[in-house]
Amino acid sequence: MSGPSFELTEEQRELQRVAHEFAERELRPVAAECDARSEFPDGLLERAARAGLTSYAIPEEYGGGGVSAMTASLIAEELSWGCAGLAGTIQATMFPVRPLLYAGSQEQRDRYLRLLASEPGTLAAIAFTEPHAGSDLTAIRASAVREGDDYLLNGEKCYVTNGGIAAITVVFAKVDGGMTAFVLEDGDPGVVAGRKEDKLGLKASYTGSILLEDARIPAARRLGEEGQGLALAMDFFEASRPQVAAAAVGVARAAFEHAADYA
Ligand SMILES: Cc1cc2nc3c(=O)[nH]c(=O)nc-3n(C[C@H](O)[C@H](O)[C@H](O)COP(=O)(O)OP(=O)(O)OC[C@H]3O[C@@H](n4cnc5c(N)ncnc54)[C@H](O)[C@@H]3O)c2cc1C
Repeated sequence: MSGPSFELTEEQRELQRVAHEFAERELRPVAAECDARSEFPDGLLERAARAGLTSYAIPEEYGGGGVSAMTASLIAEELSWGCAGLAGTIQATMFPVRPLLYAGSQEQRDRYLRLLASEPGTLAAIAFTEPHAGSDLTAIRASAVREGDDYLLNGEKCYVTNGGIAAITVVFAKVDGGMTAFVLEDGDPGVVAGRKEDKLGLKASYTGSILLEDARIPAARRLGEEGQGLALAMDFFEASRPQVAAAAVGVARAAFEHAADYA
């Protein structure tokens, strides 16, 4: 009888093993302390990058591992087994990848995907959420107005993983009512880091807000067309939300193991 196969491939099993060993060596031993201190250890991003764990979803032609969303979910499960907070920061490095592949120009892909795949690791973020707009993404109020070769962005983004500390952030704002995505770079004028959230969990992962105060962003950093942002966001969620679910499985496994050890 034939049908869909849930057998993992040789490559998937190998990457699962690499992620598990990294989690066991680098994440699990420091998880409790990092959570208590709301800290991400120095050098961890670099070590994750060297192990290929910040670039596996980036196509090989740009220096990444080129794995599927399914394989990325297997890796997410193992990393979150080690520490979901630390794993969140590591994996957020790949948040701009889908939007760049979906709508980025060749020039944008060359510049940003190579940077994200680079060995020291590059902190990245994606900013949809606003104080009054979470699940209902279309309710965002951040605006972008074209001014010559630039756009002026205004608004507030909150609950953003690596928000305000990332080198590259994909941000969503409305141009004449149409949701549109832009790439922000560290140091852009008018892009201000807001407050860091003090969360109940996932404390080792930095969650912060970003204030856009007449942020002047070159039009060349618009991703895709004006009004294409919603399609781009949905494509991102399609690939990333299963990884959030897989991460929850990793956390559940870890909780079971801790409980069994204690019993
Ligand atoms: C740890 C963490 C990291 C995050 N990282 C990022 C990030 O990197 N970038 C980013 O942009 N955002 C990020 N977020 C924000 C996250 O995407 C939002 O929290 C999420 O979209 C939900 O929005 P909300 O919190 O405003 O909740 P709401 O949208 O206000 O939802 C509250 C509750 O109401 C329910 N609900 C909402 N609408 C309906 C409806 N129509 N019918 C029935 N029930 C409904 C929801 O299911 C939920 O239970 C992060 C959040 C957390 C906690």
